[in-house]
Amino acid sequence: MMLRHIGHQRGKHPTMTTKAYGAHAADRPLEPLGIERRAAGPDDVAIDIAYCGVCHSDLHTVRGEWGGTRWPCVPGHEIVGTVRAVGSAVTRFAPGDVVGVGCMVDSCRTCEACEEGLEQFCSHGLVGTYNSPTADAPGHTLGGYSEKIVVDQAFVLAIRHPRDQLAAVAPLLCAGITTWSPLRHWQAGPGKRVGVVGIGGLGHMGIKLARALGAHVTGFTTSPEKRQAILDLGAHDVIVSTDTAAMKAAGESLDLIINTVSHSHNLDPFIGALKRDGTMVMVGAPETSHPSPAIFPMLGRRRALAGSMIGGIAETQEMLDFCAEHDVGADIEMIRMDGIEDAYARMLKGNVRYRFVIDTATL
Ligand code: NAP
Ligand code: ZN
Ligand code: ZN
Repeated sequence: MMLRHIGHQRGKHPTMTTKAYGAHAADRPLEPLGIERRAAGPDDVAIDIAYCGVCHSDLHTVRGEWGGTRWPCVPGHEIVGTVRAVGSAVTRFAPGDVVGVGCMVDSCRTCEACEEGLEQFCSHGLVGTYNSPTADAPGHTLGGYSEKIVVDQAFVLAIRHPRDQLAAVAPLLCAGITTWSPLRHWQAGPGKRVGVVGIGGLGHMGIKLARALGAHVTGFTTSPEKRQAILDLGAHDVIVSTDTAAMKAAGESLDLIINTVSHSHNLDPFIGALKRDGTMVMVGAPETSHPSPAIFPMLGRRRALAGSMIGGIAETQEMLDFCAEHDVGADIEMIRMDGIEDAYARMLKGNVRYRFVIDTATL
């Protein structure tokens, strides 16, 4: 995978030391770190981070579950904050603006995908907000579990929610766009029946967004105690996916399913819940793959299994503006930076309603 080096001279410019939290190895806890951020170049926006959401991808990466983690690892790609300074060529932002940064901080900008506004599928490899090669020290990107970040204006999002909702906006930058993009691509809306599997950070946004788009929404959970809470998020009905009879009764009822589950599991009962020509879109990224689904139920109803990854920058702005207009934000639990290991432990137990958000003032 070829990655474009962002401003290869930047490493020679003065940098600023920033407080951050990260890990030096997969089996080491996260701890306070001092990291360097590049000085803002002409196209850069320097951001004081106010809040950063905690995505399950942070945990997969910092624990080395996907392989390829670069150390030290500073996770965090659900970033909101205030612009502190801008470079001389920045036209879209000014100091004091409230902005967001999601999962990407650059891409090649010239390949077919980038030209189409699908930077997440850049054929030269997107530059992730953390764990991607860069010319900046220490040679790979470091994420939002930190006080400050410097990002090219093309990858900075405008936030139009009221300021007092800022912490609840942070999770939109990954959990929001990752569910919004397939909902839009597969045309969720009035007259469509949408299922969301796994009601964690991504899943709860999937329910809120599918409902706001006008679809009929069914939540699938392994946690019966979440039933009322899932209805309160906007689901029309809830099915406990371990209840075989209930899953059978849901057969052939859905046009689209967004599957957000972070662990390997049997896909067959969910494929059985799709109507003819229905699609299940996988967005969860488990450490080990799911067992292959049975093929005949797919053949016999022309059902499809698909995948989707975050969303493009323009689409992320569209989602943020839609959420500001429809008063949609995440349901969050604010944590201190030094509470991150407890938060990860609770995330692994499915004990989060529905997204932890770090108050970076506690760094
Ligand atoms: P999360 O908050 O931990 O939620 C995952 C949910 O999956 C849990 O709340 C639980 O919901 C369900 N679940 C967990 N373990 C399960 C098991 N063994 N069997 C069945 N269900 C289980 O995680 P998240 O932040 O939403 O992320 C979900 C996944 O999406 C992760 O793998 C993450 O890396 C991935 N992700 C992908 C993208 C992308 O672009 N495609 C972007 C962001 C994240 P219930 O209690 O309701 O069953
Ligand atoms: Zn994420
Ligand atoms: Zn590209």
